[in-house]
Amino acid sequence: MTEGREEQVLDGTGVTPLSGVGAAVRYDPDAGLSLPEPPDPETVAAERERTADRAGEEEAEIFDAHRQFLDDPEIAGRVEEAVREGLPAEHAVDRAFAGAIDQFEAAGGLMAERTDDLREVRDRLLRHLLDREAADLSALPAGSVVVAPRLGPADTAQLDPDSVAGFVTATGGRTSHAAIMARSLGIPAVVSVGDAVASIPDGVAVAVDGDAGEVVVRPSEQRRAAARGGRAVPVRHEPVETADGRAVEVAANVGTPAEARGAVEQGADGVGLFRMEFFFLDRESPPSEDEQYEAFVEVLDRFDGGRVVVRTLDVGGDKPIPYLDVAAGANPFLGVRGVRLSPGERADLFETQVRALLRAAATDAGDGLAVMFPLVSTVGDLTAAVDRVEAVADALDDEGVAYRMPELGAMVETPASAFLARELAERVDFLSIGTNDLTQYVMAAARDDDRLADYHDPRHPAVLRAIDRTVRAGHEGGAWVGMCGEMAGDPDLAELLVGLGLDELSMSAVTIPEVKAAVAATDARQAETLAERALAAETLAEVEAVLADGGDEE
Ligand code: PEP
Ligand code: MG
Repeated sequence: MTEGREEQVLDGTGVTPLSGVGAAVRYDPDAGLSLPEPPDPETVAAERERTADRAGEEEAEIFDAHRQFLDDPEIAGRVEEAVREGLPAEHAVDRAFAGAIDQFEAAGGLMAERTDDLREVRDRLLRHLLDREAADLSALPAGSVVVAPRLGPADTAQLDPDSVAGFVTATGGRTSHAAIMARSLGIPAVVSVGDAVASIPDGVAVAVDGDAGEVVVRPSEQRRAAARGGRAVPVRHEPVETADGRAVEVAANVGTPAEARGAVEQGADGVGLFRMEFFFLDRESPPSEDEQYEAFVEVLDRFDGGRVVVRTLDVGGDKPIPYLDVAAGANPFLGVRGVRLSPGERADLFETQVRALLRAAATDAGDGLAVMFPLVSTVGDLTAAVDRVEAVADALDDEGVAYRMPELGAMVETPASAFLARELAERVDFLSIGTNDLTQYVMAAARDDDRLADYHDPRHPAVLRAIDRTVRAGHEGGAWVGMCGEMAGDPDLAELLVGLGLDELSMSAVTIPEVKAAVAATDARQAETLAERALAAETLAEVEAVLADGGDEE
């Protein structure tokens, strides 16, 4: 079925507005992980001993990773049960994860998208137990299109955006971690293509249209040219202003120094959100102070004085870190996450980050460094974090270590922080609105629950009014106000956001050229009229109508 020479078009879900063409490189994360036959009943006793021997160290790791990943004691319980039954550790892991994966798949929607993360943790454990090396995805030949049943975030993080022309997976969804990483790395990607992925032979030409969600195997010359054609909007490397001269900073959301390089190529003025979670993900213990310092310095050097906003670790909620012992609570989104973790049991994590940040701020390109705290909901959350940064500065001073105090900011992601925007702004240099969380909390609709997709639209009047309030109160309190949620990267909303008065918009690097073009084409006064009309709307449909009119009509 795949031997023909004609084009074969496969449909999936596009996750990046980019196209690429290249040669298929098949990658199977399961390769080499087939398990030996389970023991027959007579050898169970011997196996039990073998397991007990090995279990000491390995169990600790297995159970750590499991319990902490998704905070699901059920998986650990299942492994324990299987080990007690006499199954070797690798079979116990395989069985326990199979149960969890089935449950996630049955739940459907965004839960089903998380199964790739689960499989990745399972495979890492199995590789460890079976002593197998993982394939190296970091040095693929230029022009490779990775074709895989699935990719986890750690797999995706290895891909070099300079050499990879795209990736295609059978599973996954728009909000899976691999998709988020593809967007920030600027890699054309189509996920959820289904079993047809298995029919793409190694080495065959593949065109990936991450916008249309289309994969073309053996594309025609015409299609190849279109896929290579790149974007219609030219990259602007200089800062932009509106047609009537209001400066709006257009920055990138990044997760690694490699992504920062991609962001410079897309014309980012700086970094508006350095998500450190990804930096903590692809490993088994937290990065050391020096490793973090090196990463911050690398990003600062790339932007050479441009602003780089680093968010302190935002673990918890939808971002569990397997090896960190953070109990999720009954409702992880309303639990110990973001800045709430900083003074708690894992205060050490916060201190290490801040030491690395303050040291990085003292380097040549360190002037641009800014630090913000996630999920602030009380003035006390913010003052405690600021006090702790000052305490770290004092400690560095005592040690004679060079440091500099960066700009400090609070993220506005909760209704509480939107209501307190003025009081927060008075205590810091800037506010940054995280519309992904702000929308979920204003609308009381978990961001990973697909059934509530209609509530997740940040254009809902309630969310727009929370944003408006934040910008006004933030300015009154003397802070500049930016936005780093997904909303900021929608070129169709740029005029509205300018009209709402945002000073900075930060987004996945791939949409920067479009947003810069949209800002440059905006008249700020006209945009204010558009914003006023949108704020007067009572329903999402009315907001949509206002945006469709473009604010021209009275
Ligand atoms: C947000 O909540 O809008 C945000 C930028 O943070 P994250 O998506 O990482 O939670
Ligand atoms: Mg958030």
